[in-house]
Amino acid sequence: MAANEKETYPWPDPLAPPKFTGDNPHTGRTCSSTPSLEIPASWVAYTDAVYDRLFLPLDQLLGNVCGEQVEPIKATPETFLVVIPYGAGNGLYTKKGNQHLNQDILAFLKTFRFARAVDEDTVAVVDLDAITEGAMPEQVEAAYHAQDAANPDTQGMQIVMPTQSGTGNGKDRYGKPWAMFLTGGSEWLRDFLAYQQTFAIDKTLTFSIMKFEPAQFLWIIANFSGDSVLCEAEGAILTAVKRSLWYHDEFRFLIDKILTKNGVPGTVNDHAVHMTASFTLAFFNNTDDWGCPATVAQLCSKLIATNIEDQRAYLHIIRTTQYWVDLAPLKLAGSIDCQLCKADTHPTYGCPFFKTEGWYGPTYDGVERHAQHVQKANMKPTSQIKRGRGGHPQKMSAGKNGRKRVP
Ligand SMILES: [Zn+2]
Repeated sequence: MAANEKETYPWPDPLAPPKFTGDNPHTGRTCSSTPSLEIPASWVAYTDAVYDRLFLPLDQLLGNVCGEQVEPIKATPETFLVVIPYGAGNGLYTKKGNQHLNQDILAFLKTFRFARAVDEDTVAVVDLDAITEGAMPEQVEAAYHAQDAANPDTQGMQIVMPTQSGTGNGKDRYGKPWAMFLTGGSEWLRDFLAYQQTFAIDKTLTFSIMKFEPAQFLWIIANFSGDSVLCEAEGAILTAVKRSLWYHDEFRFLIDKILTKNGVPGTVNDHAVHMTASFTLAFFNNTDDWGCPATVAQLCSKLIATNIEDQRAYLHIIRTTQYWVDLAPLKLAGSIDCQLCKADTHPTYGCPFFKTEGWYGPTYDGVERHAQHVQKANMKPTSQIKRGRGGHPQKMSAGKNGRKRVP
């Protein structure tokens, strides 16, 4: 039993390099594939870039979607691709002019052509050279559309808009459902779409396409705020969190049960170290309504539990444990989610997509708006009083289910 003692166990350096980082679905870049893919050409320009890889778990992608759509998708997720418009949510889907967004996206996907030869007996081939020579621009475009309609790689392809389950929360313009669902099309076109992932054509037509990854889980464990949450305190915060959990009886009991069940050898202390070995922190330099720092630290970890009950119990312990960094407690902060690409790993102002060089999609002016808001707030004579009362970060707006998010 001595090996199970907390006090005498040779605990490792809490700041040792994190493990399992290669398994993190939130990291990595798009456009990598082995073996390499054939890249089709399109006559419509789009931002042809390498992006951050986007990952969203199944339950988020199907969140607030009606059962009639969810059930068949859950039964065969590999036959579907997810299409998420940039800035998706109630507001986008109900916006005038977006009623046929699925058809607009499908029309763009039909423009992709592979260089391979087609069987002319079964596929209509449009002789573009003959049509486009000396033709009017509208005739040329009509010829392209005729070619698209005959695209062998998009035969049978459909994109279905999400149907909301119940009445939902229409007031949250970025509320779920977010995703559309794509079926059909050739395997090589589907592979290319998931490989390229993000397509920015213009300010109204920008979206990401992903495969469902039902075996992958969110690595976001908790977000923290408070006086001690500063970038330079990363080591102190990580040390405080790991040490608290290593000594936390409930945590030790649970992770020992999970890891023993998963066949991971070792004592309860070894298991506590194993479970926290992938912990990393990321910092978001938010400011509140008055321009004061309101930095948020995001804790990420590999979720080792294989069933939902264990996962919930694990997250509950992590999120309800009180951690102290010197004399300052860490406060559990609201979720971080990007209103634009929907990632949980950065706030909207930190979205990497609209900062991509050559980006044709919509951009975000929230930083300027926030700066103006701060300027106005600080000009009011009452601002000092408000700050004195400990004003909370107003960049966090209430989201669905009372969750708060950093926009
Ligand atoms: Zn984003």
